[in-house]
Amino acid sequence: MTDATFQVGSRVTVVSGPTAVGKGTVVGHLLEKHPEVWLSISATTRAPRPGEVDGQHYHFVSNAEFDRLLDSDGLLEWALVHGTDRYGTPRAPVEAALAAGHCVLLEIELQGARQVRRTMPDAQFVFIAPPSWDELVRRLEYRGTETASQRERRLLTARAEMAAKAEFDHILVNDDVDRAVAELISLLGLCPPAQVQAREQAAPDARVVDENLPST
Ligand code: 5GP
Repeated sequence: MTDATFQVGSRVTVVSGPTAVGKGTVVGHLLEKHPEVWLSISATTRAPRPGEVDGQHYHFVSNAEFDRLLDSDGLLEWALVHGTDRYGTPRAPVEAALAAGHCVLLEIELQGARQVRRTMPDAQFVFIAPPSWDELVRRLEYRGTETASQRERRLLTARAEMAAKAEFDHILVNDDVDRAVAELISLLGLCPPAQVQAREQAAPDARVVDENLPST
């Protein structure tokens, strides 16, 4: 569920939500439909999972490199997640994307979202929630990428995140990925796909809104 306040013109949207809720899937579908949206690539000290590519899914950095980023004020926000690894949003690329007029998306967890709330009060904050707690547990087990103790740790974090969902401007229940994506598109102030298609048919060049901007 989300309230009906459309934040058209908000330049930064923060998407958060508990482990295994499907944030990555929702954001992935959004980017397929709207590649002009600029997604921040976080720095993390966690090791890459099979299939993850450095510079594409994350910037995988050592603890020393992460410390250097912190010391040079190079992170917009950061957090120690699940008690194990540090994650942070590199500041300079976000500032460059905003300066270039992009719609910026940060997919980060609760502690980071709270920091962005303090430093960027005009940002909008979206919480992606599971249809139920049991469904979240089922999705995490089905994913099978964590050991039993890692799952336990993640569910502990998820409890705290679920308890904080009222802090967010909008709550999207991810019971249907297509609907969750459509709602996120609305919140970003972007046209839903049907409108994009109709507009392209009417004026084939209309989709190229940012053609003079540098690609990111
Ligand atoms: P994962 O290890 O599953 O990729 O991510 C673990 C958690 O870290 C997720 O909740 C994800 O949203 C969060 N996360 C990813 N990048 C960042 C970041 O730059 N900052 C913060 N605060 N959290 C992040």
